[in-house]
Amino acid sequence: MMVVVDRKFSLTRNQKLVLGTIEASPIPLSAYAILKVLEGSGIRHPLPVYRALEKLIALRLVYRLHTIAAFVAAAAFPNPLTAEDQIVFTICDACGQVNALMDKALGAQLSSVARDAGFAVSQPYLELHGRCSDCSEPMDSPSTPALPDYAI
Ligand SMILES: [Zn+2]
Repeated sequence: MMVVVDRKFSLTRNQKLVLGTIEASPIPLSAYAILKVLEGSGIRHPLPVYRALEKLIALRLVYRLHTIAAFVAAAAFPNPLTAEDQIVFTICDACGQVNALMDKALGAQLSSVARDAGFAVSQPYLELHGRCSDCSEPMDSPSTPALPDYAI
């Protein structure tokens, strides 16, 4: 946690505003949504928001979820995200909830596979879409439809 505090210490005013906006939101925010929140703070154009996001992403204080074009704060997740962990974001398509799963073994395996293929990874995390436990119906629910005939 000290590392995160140190990284925040050198942020500019705009970077602090953008990070604070993302950290205060219960859901991922698009750059446009961040701009709307910050209009009252003197930021009236997208460029300062994008510049701040670029720096916050480089510092690993913010992650861009490419599949939904939105941003989440690293501090939103219970465990600090480290470079050794394979980060897997789970994104619920029903309620929008985002969680981060971390796995060192998976990270090592994916790095090895990419290296063997001569592939240089530029986005070191995965995004999985589906339904969270709150939005999933139990497997033995009586409302679960029977398999159609063609699936048997
Ligand atoms: Zn959900």
